[in-house]
Amino acid sequence: MVKRILVVEDESIVLLDITIMLKDAGFDVVGHARNGEKAIELAHALQPDLVLMDIKMPKMNGLKASDVISNTFQIPVLLLTAFSQREYIDEAKRANIVGYLVKPITEANLIPAVEIALLQAANTKKYQERNAQLDETLANRKVIEKAKGIIMKRKNVTEEIAYNKLRRLSMDKQLSMETVARLIISNDQKQVNR
Ligand SMILES: [Mg+2]
Repeated sequence: MVKRILVVEDESIVLLDITIMLKDAGFDVVGHARNGEKAIELAHALQPDLVLMDIKMPKMNGLKASDVISNTFQIPVLLLTAFSQREYIDEAKRANIVGYLVKPITEANLIPAVEIALLQAANTKKYQERNAQLDETLANRKVIEKAKGIIMKRKNVTEEIAYNKLRRLSMDKQLSMETVARLIISNDQKQVNR
């Protein structure tokens, strides 16, 4: 799939140069912005795979915009900096930046940096998804444990019997174990509140 990139740069010539280099390399440049405010607006509207962001720009600088874009929209940002802006790099480390490129931008440094940034972003996303899945599994397991405890207490049965009962209910009602467990817990709470 062709990767979609948003380019944010206040100098028209640099903006044009970068756009041509990216297009030549087979990327889809989906939008242009010349300040941080517009960058946030377009990142939200276009949901690009990557944002290339200049630091020094009018209205809102690139670091502030990157903060919003990477943290709020979870879109990776690759910063474009001038050598004199090295003091910004420490600040950039806080803003969830996938990398930075020092100007002047050339095809030889731009394309590999973009490819690595995209790869890194994809890996991060994979980890986040796996973590979310693990969290969910853990949460489900806790719910099942709790429902099992309720059955054990109510019916005065062993853990194994309670678990089998849960599993049978899940099969009979064609609901997941977690759903059955949640129903049992909510029923139990209603009875306690009564
Ligand atoms: Mg600039």
